[in-house]
Order: sequence, then C-alpha cells, then structure tokens
Amino acid sequence: MIEAPEACCLSEQLNRTVKGKKITDVFAQYTPHKFAWFYGNPEEYPERLAGKTIDEVNPRGGMVEIKAGEMMLILTDGVNLRYFAPGEKLPTKHQLLIGFEDESCLVASVRMYGGLWCFPNEGFNAPISAYYEAAKNKPQVMSDEFDKEYFGKLIDADEAQKKTAKAFLATEQTIPGLGNGVLQDILYNARIHPRTRINALSAEQRENLFYQIKSTLREIYLQGGRNTETDLFGRNGGYVSHLSKKTVGTACPRCGETIKKENYLGGSIYYCSGCQANQ
Ligand SMILES: [Zn+2]
Repeated sequence: MIEAPEACCLSEQLNRTVKGKKITDVFAQYTPHKFAWFYGNPEEYPERLAGKTIDEVNPRGGMVEIKAGEMMLILTDGVNLRYFAPGEKLPTKHQLLIGFEDESCLVASVRMYGGLWCFPNEGFNAPISAYYEAAKNKPQVMSDEFDKEYFGKLIDADEAQKKTAKAFLATEQTIPGLGNGVLQDILYNARIHPRTRINALSAEQRENLFYQIKSTLREIYLQGGRNTETDLFGRNGGYVSHLSKKTVGTACPRCGETIKKENYLGGSIYYCSGCQANQ
C-alpha cells in the first residue's frame, strides 16, 4: 500500500511524464476485478476522459489526484500505477488504461482492493467521498502546513488521550497518508511503543514525535519510497524499513534487544522490546 511519501514521489513522476498530454484512449475494467471500485459506470470512463489533457497531479494523503479538464481521477492506495513509453509492451491485465496522443500509456491495476474514481471537478456524491475529502482538506503530512502547532492540536485533543500511539497516528484518517506501513519506523525513531497511550507521553515526547514523523517521511520520500513499493516505472523504492517482517527476530541495531511482531488493530505492529518500552 502506498502512503504519503510514495504518493508524493508518484505525483512528481506523473507531473514530469504525463502532464500536458492529451488522452485519446481509455479502457476501464478491461480485466474485471471484484474489488476495483469505480465511480458510477466504468463504461462511461472513456466518455469522461477522452479528449481531456492532464493538467496537474497532486498527492492527497496516500492517494494520487489527477486533474484533466473538468474531470478528476483519484487513485487510492492499493492501486498500482505504471507508465509505459510509446512502443513499450503493455501488460495484458489491468483495470484502467489511459492512452495518450503520443501512444504512451498509464496503466492502473488493483492489488487486493482499490478505488479508481473519475468524477466531475465540482464534486461527487458517494459514501467514499468523505475519505477523499478528508485527505484533500486536511494539511498534507509532509507539507509545511502540517506544522508543530497543527500536530500539537491533534495530539493534545481530549479524544486523543486514551488512544494508543498506533490508534492515534494511523487509524480513522487522523493523518491521511500516515498508515500502518510508515508508522512502524516513525515509532521506532521516536522510541515509542505502538501500544503506549497518548496520555502517557510527556510534552517533550510529543514534540519529538512530531519531528520523527517529519524526518522519517522525508527520508522515505528522498529515497523514492519504501522498497516494498514500486514507482511509476516499476522500480522499487530505496528505503529499507528498520522494522518489518524481514527484521523480526533480529537484534535492534540501537540497543541489541530483539525486534518483535504482534497483531494489533487490524494489522501487524513491529517494535523493539528494548528501546521502545511500553509506558
Ligand atoms: Zn532497540
């Protein structure tokens, strides 16, 4: 699943490769996928997008937002997006293919599940729209707008106090684009156990957590995303997570204790049993 740093990398690559290109061919749900979510009828996608030009691409949390004329195309986390230069061999399976005038293509395929929502700029009405609106309207976690003051309000809010660090940071879209993937290294760098309750954190730890969110995400971004994800050209990112299924059971490079794994809140958590003590 891509998250904020990968969505930023992808958006930049898209702006460099397809911005200004005119869409000529569109195939939606070419390979039927039960968990590929479209907005309205996918058969209408060619009509909505053909003839439009890609104006701008922006990251929204862990989603990528593509503006093309009066249409918006949102690709959620869980959608693999690849660019193919003119003449390159195209994959035979995909849920959305967008062909351009110069015969280059964007090909989107859904892994387990994912949204490929195309709708007019003025907005759309669907149960899913709240998910997108939240990602769009809240400050992007990697932007300057997401600053110490903003984070302070989130973490000092009454409703945050009884939550654990994982619940606070990576659920309910409190911080769109910060999910269970990047969470592990953020908490490792902050030396906070995922099950530690927010009300157990000192003012100093809260401030440090803010800096660790910023620096960890920036590091992932600068390395082109995590190595478990691929970019627009199918290349793996360069960032190797400190905590992952590959480092479970090994010694923590910081303190020598063992890296552990547990299931918690609908996903795995990883932590060092030595330097991320549960407070
Ligand atoms: Zn450790």
